Amino acid sequence: MIALSLAEVAAAVDGRLVAADPAATVTGSVEFDSRKVGPGSLFVAFPGEKVDGHDYAETAVEAGAVAVLGSREVPGVPMVIVDDALTAMGRLARAAVDRLPDLTVIGVTGSSGKTTTKDLIGQLTARLGATVAPPGSFNNELGHPHTALRAGPDTRYLVMEKGARGIGHVRYLCELVPPRISVVLNVGTSHIGEFGSQDNIAVAKGELVEALPADGLAVLNADDPRVSAMASRTRARVVRYGEAPDADVRAEDVTLDERGHPSYTLVTPEGRAPVRLGLTGHHQVGNTLAAAAVARELGMPLAELATALGELGLVSTRRMDVFDRPDGVTVIDDSYNANPASMAVAVRALASIGQGRRTVAVLGYMAELGPFERDGHAQVGQLVAELGVDRLLVVGEPAAPIHEGATAVGNWGGESVLLTDQAAAVEVLRSELRPGDVVLVKGSRYRTWEVADALRADAA
Ligand code: ATP
Ligand code: MG
Repeated sequence: MIALSLAEVAAAVDGRLVAADPAATVTGSVEFDSRKVGPGSLFVAFPGEKVDGHDYAETAVEAGAVAVLGSREVPGVPMVIVDDALTAMGRLARAAVDRLPDLTVIGVTGSSGKTTTKDLIGQLTARLGATVAPPGSFNNELGHPHTALRAGPDTRYLVMEKGARGIGHVRYLCELVPPRISVVLNVGTSHIGEFGSQDNIAVAKGELVEALPADGLAVLNADDPRVSAMASRTRARVVRYGEAPDADVRAEDVTLDERGHPSYTLVTPEGRAPVRLGLTGHHQVGNTLAAAAVARELGMPLAELATALGELGLVSTRRMDVFDRPDGVTVIDDSYNANPASMAVAVRALASIGQGRRTVAVLGYMAELGPFERDGHAQVGQLVAELGVDRLLVVGEPAAPIHEGATAVGNWGGESVLLTDQAAAVEVLRSELRPGDVVLVKGSRYRTWEVADALRADAA
């Protein structure tokens, strides 16, 4: 973060200094977890329901915090007092990025693939200049300012994931940290329970391009009609990416090898170049094109871009993390989270990696689907059967419609079973897995990843 005096902090957040030296300067990170506080930090105390951050104010100061930003005074602790620490942290982030004229903020939104694509963009921009794009999601009103406040005077690129929980949410995040480049990946059905319809989800995601200045850039998925249509909602220039023949940054001749790694010809207004990805799954074609559109805008020449795309790796965990066990079993750990679109992507990757091998899908519940919950699960089951996956383990009663969707497909040669929990799935896998099998593990958090962890541990 940039150095800010407590007087500047107080002015930015409309706060009141108590027992604090206005000239004392915050030079370190801004933290809400006292264990992360170091010399020069600003500690933010949230009045949580279970844990009150103010109880850790003294600990934070002992650990080096210059002051504590909070909503009530703690005797003997230098404080910046505000009404609401979360709002204040957002305003502080805005004040900090406004003081960094050389910083380019890149925002990424979409129903699936935000973290993945944020990580890809971050790897490319890191070749161009100092980048802040920490692993993980950090896509809400807390993680967002926390991440932005890590940008310092030397930072050139700040890559931010923007999650939309409702209408107006992305707009608010953009007020905190305004993007110069906005990437919209797709409009799916995650959180449809809250939004009501996919069109409403599109309204919410499109706020990312509405927030752009006239000299900004909107990077839109040409293969998703709801995303493409967002071109009319921005005053910025638009670059469309995808496999559509009229996309500006395009993949032609897409193929997947036996490891599920895509190859394609990258076509941009500058020319054509072959790309061979080390990432897994067809969905990475679009994600890498989105990242390529950003890097191109920032000046990366085509040949360098094609090479860089081939060297992209995974940064955040449990997202299409494919590993081979010594016993010859291949595991696809995609257990971080799930919605119908990302389930489909993962099941397709399983089918493509598993050609000529026995395939096993371990699938759990998908949260937050509202009225779409039954159909959303059933359609995933149907896809599993239609793609000819050999074995389906459905984990947990709430995910039962996946099992029902699969077994409803008449001519499926595979077999499905509904299991009570993760432990039951691990037990079945331990008894059934044979060398050469390919296993996909995926679900909406809900501890599905315990299955992946057990598969990993078994291999050790
Ligand atoms: P969250 O809303 O939980 O933060 P996210 O949008 O950040 O999710 P990621 O964590 O990047 O999403 O990816 C989750 C999973 O979505 C991946 O592991 C993969 O299965 C799938 N996925 C990634 N990219 C795409 C895409 N472009 N289209 C559909 N599914 C995708
Ligand atoms: Mg994410």
